[in-house]
Amino acid sequence: MNRFWLETYGCQMNKAESNALEDTMLESGWIPAEQPQDADLVILNTCSVRLTAENRIWGRIGYFKTLKALRPHTLVVMGCMAQRLADDLKKAAPAVDMVVGTFQKAAFARMLSRAASRKQSLTQERQQDEEYSFSSRHARKTDYRAFVPIMHGCNNFCSYCIVPYVRGREVSRDPRSIFAEIDGLLRQGRVREITLLGQNVNSYRFSSGPDETPLDFPGLLDEIVSRFPVFSAGQTAVSGGSPSDVPWLRFLTSHPKDFSGALIERMAAYPCMCRQIHLPVQHGSDTILRSMNRQYTRSDYLSLVERIRKKLPDVLLSTDILIGFPGETDEDFCRTLDLMRQVGFDDAFTYYYNPREGTAAWSMQDTVPEKLKHERLTAVIDLQRATSAAKKKQRLGKKVRVLAGEISRKNSSEILGRTEGDEMVVFPGAASLIGNFYTVRLAELRGNTFYGHEVAE
Ligand code: SF4
Repeated sequence: MNRFWLETYGCQMNKAESNALEDTMLESGWIPAEQPQDADLVILNTCSVRLTAENRIWGRIGYFKTLKALRPHTLVVMGCMAQRLADDLKKAAPAVDMVVGTFQKAAFARMLSRAASRKQSLTQERQQDEEYSFSSRHARKTDYRAFVPIMHGCNNFCSYCIVPYVRGREVSRDPRSIFAEIDGLLRQGRVREITLLGQNVNSYRFSSGPDETPLDFPGLLDEIVSRFPVFSAGQTAVSGGSPSDVPWLRFLTSHPKDFSGALIERMAAYPCMCRQIHLPVQHGSDTILRSMNRQYTRSDYLSLVERIRKKLPDVLLSTDILIGFPGETDEDFCRTLDLMRQVGFDDAFTYYYNPREGTAAWSMQDTVPEKLKHERLTAVIDLQRATSAAKKKQRLGKKVRVLAGEISRKNSSEILGRTEGDEMVVFPGAASLIGNFYTVRLAELRGNTFYGHEVAE
């Protein structure tokens, strides 16, 4: 019993936690199976943010139930869906051997290590709930882009969102643990981009004692930049190279109500900070923002965008738009389109509302007919597509810094990379370029992807 198969669904936080679990398992002697059929242990790390995400997992459970008859294995369901459904999941799917919720992950990882080192089979008793604990490493050794969780949970309780119920209250990670992880990543010499991760990173606040002044998010950035000169001096631990080697520092996700002037100052002051912000607005009508419990108004959001653009004129802004919320009128919807036109987002993730059991909105009447939700979503997508294309066209001819990511699927003599605005750029190059920065002139736009060629710094 030492081969495992791990499937991860959902957000970057889930991916970071799966990497950490995999790291622990490999260290204690577990071996990744080549294919599900070879696994002694199957772990599904699940998402619960939308019903569709859970339906996908029910499908996978069905698949593994069939496989179990051919090749017995232990089937474990962990993550947000496991946290939400707990024992009901096992009752609904007896093929599932263990259900590991958000607050049992650490105990589960320890149990797996013990089982491997003592060559014991897995005990299937329920793991004890514990306070959420951060792992020490969340990136694979081969990664050149790393996600470093700094926060867990959320206290905002937006009325449509299940996250606060499945991930619990906000916990800020001890900065010493964050610094140790970043130090390890930079010493590896491969990492070129670090994303500080949390459901709402702006509300990061850590103090190790009642008399200590809490460290907030801008303060954490100051500490990171001052402790790791590579982020400011342009020198890398590996090559002592030019400014083009300064690693990128990003953060994800922000809540507009907590996006401070101090953070904007830090983004303007530190060259390592990517000029890109994901700032979910969700809607353009104050009535709907209130019933979503977003805790800011339309004009709050617009003035925040103005303040950001004043200090960071070349910043790329993306957002989330959720339409079809209970009570949304034509006028409310038009306010959303109007806000999108006013801001001119570079990109947007767009959804229509689906009632979610366990959220505050679940008790609200779902007043917008499905057909109308689809029509409104189409209008939002069309508007954003036109805005993104127009903004991208304005960037043609510009020289941009690109982090080379992978061989282009369309042409093996080309590389697909990303700008600091997370835009896709394809340029001629070989696999040896992957994981490093290049300066590329944007020559052409095909759909959402820029095509260009490398130029001198
Ligand atoms: S801020 Fe709102 S939408 Fe985001 S995770 Fe928290 S409750 Fe959910």
